[in-house]
Amino acid sequence: MEFEHKISVLGSTGSIGTQTLEIAREYKGIRVEAMTARKNIALLEKQVREFKPRLVCVTDEDKAKELKIKLADTDTKVVSGEEGLAETAASGNAQTVVTAVVGISGLLPTIEAIKAGKNIALANKETLVTGGHIVTRLAREHGIKLLPVDSEHSAIFQSLECCRDRREIKRILLTASGGPFFGKKREELTNVKPADALKHPNWNMGAKVTIDSSTLVNKGLEVMEARWLFGTENIKVLVHRQSVVHSAVEFCDNAVIAQLGVPDMKLPIQYALTYPHRLPMSGNELDLFAYRDLMFEEPDTETFFALKLAYDAMKAGGVMPTVFNSADEAAVDMFMKGKLSYLGISDAIANAMNKIQNKENPSLDDILETDKAAKEIVYSM
Ligand code: NDP
Ligand code: MG
Repeated sequence: MEFEHKISVLGSTGSIGTQTLEIAREYKGIRVEAMTARKNIALLEKQVREFKPRLVCVTDEDKAKELKIKLADTDTKVVSGEEGLAETAASGNAQTVVTAVVGISGLLPTIEAIKAGKNIALANKETLVTGGHIVTRLAREHGIKLLPVDSEHSAIFQSLECCRDRREIKRILLTASGGPFFGKKREELTNVKPADALKHPNWNMGAKVTIDSSTLVNKGLEVMEARWLFGTENIKVLVHRQSVVHSAVEFCDNAVIAQLGVPDMKLPIQYALTYPHRLPMSGNELDLFAYRDLMFEEPDTETFFALKLAYDAMKAGGVMPTVFNSADEAAVDMFMKGKLSYLGISDAIANAMNKIQNKENPSLDDILETDKAAKEIVYSM
């Protein structure tokens, strides 16, 4: 099938970024205009030589200088730093920007891309968690689409395609794999090390989102992401170990419409790039006979109480979702460096949420200040 589309990939060296490029490799009509990395210039150089983008950004200044020298024989321009990232997001002829960087670093470039009239293939859920009210308003004002890449949100988005009136939605059923520690109690998790938490049962993802999946922080972030994408706080989390039902919508007449598939990010990434069309996908067919017993269970919010904190943050609104997000970013960083215990991650989020005073309808500056404040609280714990 003929398909022409120009994209930019923020975070092209990561898990979502490399899978996006696999799709671009398969569909030659997808042209990569720009890409970015933080410091992995060895991989970025290879990607530049294959996809020949017009522009790349490396946020680490020293690594950017190194890459500039390496790419002197090419036509690709190299920029650097946070401003370079925002410039790259907004630049050129890309119709869609894939936001696959980690953490709140995705917020400013996403805003710049929207202002430049680009659709967003949104992997970076932290953008909506922290700045959802600003980003959704800008998206409406600029007439651009926010196309979810997160598998659950893509499933909800696909399930809503038959919905003509959003008031008919009763609730969203957001599935969760439960992560590697499903069924365990707090006392069994005191000695968890990064390597244990990095073993996800169903998905192969970047380090931060994998740790977040194990604590259910990821599901909490996804609840808030869904709130902004679909305009309801009526969101029920179901633990579904097999990760086959990627999420569902329950309507007012009790119809439940879901999207199913094998656990593979390629489909949600591809659909965000090709929407409203579907392109053939090799392999990855779902054999329903292999899943005779699809199971759904209640999440254990006593052991994994970060999920409860996320609902509290969503209900409080204002800067509280940013406090939740940014305290977790710092706590995961400390856990990975052996400076914080595993259970300390959720405790750190609770502590920051207790310490920081909420502020309604925050500006972008308020959000960025809150990000700093929450991280400072956790790093000085
Ligand atoms: P990875 O850690 O695999 O990749 C992150 C990418 O962003 C890399 O290119 C990295 O560069 C770059 N990067 C990291 N930190 C920064 C920063 N502070 N500033 C600029 N660039 C940065 O992450 P994932 O691909 O797993 O996740 C990306 C986003 O997608 C996250 O928001 C995650 O929650 C979301 N997501 C991921 C899923 C998955 O399956 N992986 C599923 C659903 C959502 P470098 O390589 O140089 O460090
Ligand atoms: Mg997800």
